[in-house]
Amino acid sequence: MMIVMKQDATEDQFRAVINRIESIGARARRSSGVEVTTIAAIGDREHIARLELDGSPGVDRVVPILKPYKLASRQICHDACTVLEIGGRKVGGDHFALIAGPCTVESRDQLLTTAHTVDAGGATMLRGGAYKPRTSPYAFQGLGVEGLGLLAEAKARTGLPIVTELMDARDLEPVLEVADVVQIGARNMQNYALLTEVGRSGCPVLIKRGLSSTLEELLMAAEYVLKEGNENVMLCERGIRTFETAYRFTLDLTAVPVLKELSHLPVIVDPSHAPGRRDLVEPLSLAAAAAGADGIIVEVHPAPEEAICDGPQQLRTEDFARYARKVEAAAAVAGKTSFRRRDGVVAEIGDVGSSRFAA
Ligand code: PEP
Ligand code: MN
Repeated sequence: MMIVMKQDATEDQFRAVINRIESIGARARRSSGVEVTTIAAIGDREHIARLELDGSPGVDRVVPILKPYKLASRQICHDACTVLEIGGRKVGGDHFALIAGPCTVESRDQLLTTAHTVDAGGATMLRGGAYKPRTSPYAFQGLGVEGLGLLAEAKARTGLPIVTELMDARDLEPVLEVADVVQIGARNMQNYALLTEVGRSGCPVLIKRGLSSTLEELLMAAEYVLKEGNENVMLCERGIRTFETAYRFTLDLTAVPVLKELSHLPVIVDPSHAPGRRDLVEPLSLAAAAAGADGIIVEVHPAPEEAICDGPQQLRTEDFARYARKVEAAAAVAGKTSFRRRDGVVAEIGDVGSSRFAA
């Protein structure tokens, strides 16, 4: 439930309300909007119902949070958006993230070449899987710890924060050593034990929408992480199963504005896994950015023909800079600024004066 405080409520009155919420074993989350300040009481429904805060000093009114997800709900944050800060780069609000890198870490050469290229092209973070969720148990499963070591080297050389997938809570410790963002893949979106562990870790997490999951189910997955006190959650639309067979998955771009209406969390779009085809990646990226996505996570490879997995959909490294400029222009249309490094300096969208960033 939401407790809307009076505009002239004192700090002591805030404290008293928070103490009352905590005394029944629930959590209190204070949030200051432009016009109102609220305290959300999160916990067991029956206990919350017995709080009886209506009419308490400093309390204006008590409003139930009707959605099954509470901490992920837009209601909790009023008009504000959650802005994450990852390795000094902001995501959410008017900050756009361009996360790029190979599907999977294959070799030192492949990863470092990609990392340097996407860094020079203006990427905000480097992606790459060391643990891969493959349909076939006989397919390449990822380099594991060796792959994590290569990601650590790429991070040391470029300064790019790392986004990498965790599939099994037993690998949490080594993954956390290198990951700036833990990716929970589409197939694990409803692995609640894994979500809880990532929640407890406090590490920023990117949750990909399950292949056949509703937006409410995605938001409930986010709630598992948020419930553990980890507020660093990004949602990711990556395509869903529909009756259409002309491409692998249907990228649900309606999800972008709708998720932003339902939640305060940043929304990232993966334009690579839905079409499964390189030529469709750019139009989908531009549409996603123009629709107001807070970022794109895209696959890039120096030699896609030789890629171990997802070769047909990976952008070529030599095309990345030109692609990045177009995506940033589309993001600017939606009012987003970008965070890119240029010789250690923050660069905003449109600020592409350096030859290093020339299209
Ligand atoms: C990936 O990002 O490499 C991946 C496997 O994505 P998804 O979980 O969306 O299929
Ligand atoms: Mn992939």
